[in-house]
Amino acid sequence: MTNKPIYVTQPFLPPLEEFESYLREIWDSKILSNSGYFHQQLENALCEYLGVEYISLFSNGTIALITALQALQIKGEVITTPYSFVATAHSIMWNGLKPIFVDVDSETLNLDPARIEAAISSQTTAIMPVHCYGRACDVNAIQQIADKYNLKVIYDAAHAFGVKDDDGSLLRHGDLSVLSFHATKVFNTFEGGAIVCPDVKTKQRIDQLKNFGFQDDVTVIDFGINGKMSEINAAFGVLQLKYIDQAVARRRNIDALYRELLKNVKGIRCMPEVDVGMANYSYFPIFVESEYPVSRDELFQKLKDNDIYSRRYFYPLISDYEIYREFSSGYDFSVALNAANKILCLPIYPDLSAQDVKFVINIINS
Ligand SMILES: *Cc1c(COP(=O)(O)O)cnc(C)c1O
Repeated sequence: MTNKPIYVTQPFLPPLEEFESYLREIWDSKILSNSGYFHQQLENALCEYLGVEYISLFSNGTIALITALQALQIKGEVITTPYSFVATAHSIMWNGLKPIFVDVDSETLNLDPARIEAAISSQTTAIMPVHCYGRACDVNAIQQIADKYNLKVIYDAAHAFGVKDDDGSLLRHGDLSVLSFHATKVFNTFEGGAIVCPDVKTKQRIDQLKNFGFQDDVTVIDFGINGKMSEINAAFGVLQLKYIDQAVARRRNIDALYRELLKNVKGIRCMPEVDVGMANYSYFPIFVESEYPVSRDELFQKLKDNDIYSRRYFYPLISDYEIYREFSSGYDFSVALNAANKILCLPIYPDLSAQDVKFVINIINS
């Protein structure tokens, strides 16, 4: 039995003593930001680890999303999913663009390519899909549509750190992919994010945009922002990257244990398993179906009463927030809505013990 709270996620922290030597290096160098030693280290290390060509680090994923749209000079309307974290749509709004929500696929909960074409208008210039729970979008179908209508594709890959497909990194698809390194994500730098860029020219432009638009000391080429990652965050990232495989492996064991223990629980459905190496086990979503004795919200509360903090993620839909209503009234997001009403993300993080997983399952079974 457990007596401490079980949170939905907890950051994976490398040994504090190890971080102290990194801090000492920062103190010695007196370089705290603006592409210092650790910033460069982390960019190089991430390119190698993720198997991508170029990466530009950011202070967080949301500023990275906003900057990605700026970098490609997106105008007019952007097709996106209502089944995501609100920052996806906010980044579109912060560029003065119009989000066009399109329903998701019932298997993957990702943007349904079959519904994208009907949402394209003469104003559409981009698609912003999300690799929800780190599960790959139908990248080929999306690219085909983008090519046909000459649209840019910017992936919100905040959940997809380290995810691969048959040919390599999932992050190489589309025009740009955006990562989040927030404390709750699989790989974190306390706060942080990145844009994966296909070529050096794009990286340079993005590097300039995140640094106020400076090209050199005396030349400002665009209305840039301050999206730079600091040396402290970058150093933590370099250290954390040493432990990431271990952290993902532990998540994988928890994922497997949940699947085993939930196999015969009536009314609880897990999402399909993904091949090893092609998932990061960032979340453990379950569907609480009508055959389960109580509703999703009652189960959520029951877990909470036992000090287990699951998360209704994503609920509500972005399109159901009052401020987004004007972009969604009259449209049908029934697949996304069904998921939002049934989904519950169970606790999963590298330090979650097998006993705690069993305790969660006992409550679900009781
Ligand atoms: C976490 C997250 C973001 C925002 O990232 P921050 O680093 O917190 O700004 C954007 N989109 C999705 C899908 C996310 O999960």
